[in-house]
Amino acid sequence: MILAAEQKSRLVRSLKELRLPAMRACYEDQAEQARREALSYEQYLLSLVECERETRRNNRIARLLRESRLPLEKSLETFDRKRLPRRVDAHLSVLLEGSFLDRAENVLAFGNPGSGKTHLLCALGQVLIEQGRRMLFTQCSLLVQDLLIARRDLALARTLKRLRKYDGLIIDDIGYVQHSREEMEVLFALLADRYERGSVLLTSNLPFSQWERIFKDPMTTAAAIDRLVHHSIVLELNLPSYRLEESRKRNEEVVL
Ligand code: ADP
Ligand code: MG
Repeated sequence: MILAAEQKSRLVRSLKELRLPAMRACYEDQAEQARREALSYEQYLLSLVECERETRRNNRIARLLRESRLPLEKSLETFDRKRLPRRVDAHLSVLLEGSFLDRAENVLAFGNPGSGKTHLLCALGQVLIEQGRRMLFTQCSLLVQDLLIARRDLALARTLKRLRKYDGLIIDDIGYVQHSREEMEVLFALLADRYERGSVLLTSNLPFSQWERIFKDPMTTAAAIDRLVHHSIVLELNLPSYRLEESRKRNEEVVL
């Protein structure tokens, strides 16, 4: 019943050629188990195929996570949802389903520093990747630098096109630094390129009313806000700083 050496090497070679590494790795153990449990041929085939599929899926998710540059410690498991205003929590439940990406809707997270904007969007990003979505996390300032370099090298259009492969672009801390006019132009070019093409998820400490500080002139500011808001979900995190609250709790414990 067990394969002869020559048959075995034929099988291994075929699985290699067909690019089925997980099947190659587990067919013997699974066959052993199938014999022990008297599984049918079909059941054995099923377990092998599922093993290959599961391994591929896990590899793909791991690759997408690496590619996303998301900080892995900011996950949904480590995020305390009870701190969220009820409205934001309800929005989050819908966002976690991921269909907003199909509609190229944007997610705009506002709130004071430490309110959990970055953690929230990173956690969301991780869940979406587990659903097979392609996401990219980037600090706004770094993204802008990359775009400026691309423009200098006459490669801005190509760079923007490359970013289109992502279902969602998480831009962290828009408006945190004072940008120059040139920087704002490339950021605006990116937002215009993504408009109705792919989702932008961004965090900002500045409410829209102060975005002229980012985009300098009123026309560009209005145009940027218009594109972002047209199809968007706004998450307002008007919360006390998590960091401050945690350190206060620790200090209270010390006092008690
Ligand atoms: P923001 O981007 O709004 O400035 P962060 O997301 O960076 O805030 O949060 C500040 C710190 O507090 C981070 O270490 C983050 O992990 C933590 N934090 C914030 N909100 C929560 C929360 N609801 N549950 C767990 N940790 C949180
Ligand atoms: Mg942040």
